[in-house]
Amino acid sequence: MQNSGKHKGGRGRARGGTRSGGTAAAAAAADAPFQKNEQVVADIIGLTHDGEGVGRADGFTLFIQGALPGERVRAKVMKVKKQYGYARLEELLEASPDRVQPLCPIHKECGGCQLQHLDYPAQLAWKRQHVADNLTRIGKLTVAEEAGEGVVVRDTVGMDEPWRYRNKAAVPVGAGAEEDGLAMGFYAQGSHRIIDMDECHIQDERNDETIRAVKRIASELGVPPYDEESGRGLLRHVVVRTGVVTGEIMVVLITNGRKLPQADRLAERIREVVPAVKSIVQNVNERSTNAIFGEETITLWGSDVIYDELDGIRFAISARSFYQVNPAQTVKLYRKAVDYAGLTGSETVIDAYCGIGTISLFLARRAGRVYGVEIVPEAIEDAARNAELNGIANAAFEAGPAEVVIPRWREEGIAADVIVVDPPRKGCDAALLETIIAMRPERVVYVSCNPSTLARDLRVLEDGGFRTVEVTPVDMFPQTMHVECCSLLVRKD
Ligand code: SAH
Repeated sequence: MQNSGKHKGGRGRARGGTRSGGTAAAAAAADAPFQKNEQVVADIIGLTHDGEGVGRADGFTLFIQGALPGERVRAKVMKVKKQYGYARLEELLEASPDRVQPLCPIHKECGGCQLQHLDYPAQLAWKRQHVADNLTRIGKLTVAEEAGEGVVVRDTVGMDEPWRYRNKAAVPVGAGAEEDGLAMGFYAQGSHRIIDMDECHIQDERNDETIRAVKRIASELGVPPYDEESGRGLLRHVVVRTGVVTGEIMVVLITNGRKLPQADRLAERIREVVPAVKSIVQNVNERSTNAIFGEETITLWGSDVIYDELDGIRFAISARSFYQVNPAQTVKLYRKAVDYAGLTGSETVIDAYCGIGTISLFLARRAGRVYGVEIVPEAIEDAARNAELNGIANAAFEAGPAEVVIPRWREEGIAADVIVVDPPRKGCDAALLETIIAMRPERVVYVSCNPSTLARDLRVLEDGGFRTVEVTPVDMFPQTMHVECCSLLVRKD
């Protein structure tokens, strides 16, 4: 979830397919009705999970970025495989009525906002349909209009103003065009070439301003940018997080090594230019990896956390802790999770994958007792601190893998009325699903950022004695193809 949205690394292509070795590629091209570089006319019949148009031309499938369902386009074939190919959009012959002019001038190079060319109501409708399709295809569930006849998939909960929603920016650093200057922006789509950028329309303005300030200051002080190829240089990434309610800002400088010359001067200048900064930390990552953060975090100035508020609950957030990036929508998502939990005040609830205890504390206001578990130790420290900060005494937290800690809780005699899970993109560990089935809670609330692993896990829970009642998609990432879901399951007997 960390990399959802704009400032993410080169996107991966999740689709499998024909092996493209020399002979295999030649054989594939021979089978296909088209040659590379050929101009074709395609009718667009759908959108893939990463926002590409699915085109049909002479019965052959072509993936065409930027094309929308219902459109007819002229495209240039770029790559041909046995069953499908890729083509580049050349001309719109018939445009979709849902097509809009993208707000961002560089959205094509960036690729972070895959749906900017689609009108917002159509984005929401596509997300609902995408979730329903996954439930049917992967989860083998029946999607129904009415409760009782199958799973009801609600309309996607959208934003009034679907821009400027992100509270966090994670920006790669490289050498700029001018001598000694830095480039900070995003990786050009499908590569690790850094494109400089000053503004991102889905970022909170305060993040954009802070990133611009850090870029200028670090350039002035001659901080050397990291070079991925050689492994030399220092500054790898800058992460900025704003508490949108409190206005507090955290700056994280991710460096290739512990030594950061002029660290004090750097921190002083950042505070001068952006007085709302309350925390400046350095994180050391010396590994050659796509992961942004390393293990060691050093506070250079100020607090080691910033604070934010969701629905009247205050949260301390440290550099490496997970915290949802769209706070306005997060409140809607968590309220839905609490609603699905059906609490009366006496229940015992387990919150698996609890992060800094956000959902746990929302639940604790309405439950008897809440147990949260999370794998990142700093996040659990934050969670315990957050319970105390809010005077919430009925929540307890433990660090460790959910699939190990929850079976142990069960052996210790903890019986849950409700289990909430909110796993990363890969979904729940199989051992955790087994434990949930064995614990037989009345309800399971499944919060998911990936409809395909959600559908897979719902099938396991269905076969284990639960019924999926309802799924509500929540638009946490407008303009992108990402969709979050909150689902309610009840025990069948
Ligand atoms: N519910 C939280 C966090 C959700 S993100 C919120 O809404 O803020 C998913 C979390 O799962 C991350 O904090 C990640 O560190 C954690 N995680 C990943 N694998 C885990 C595992 N095996 N056991 C427990 N937590 C895990």
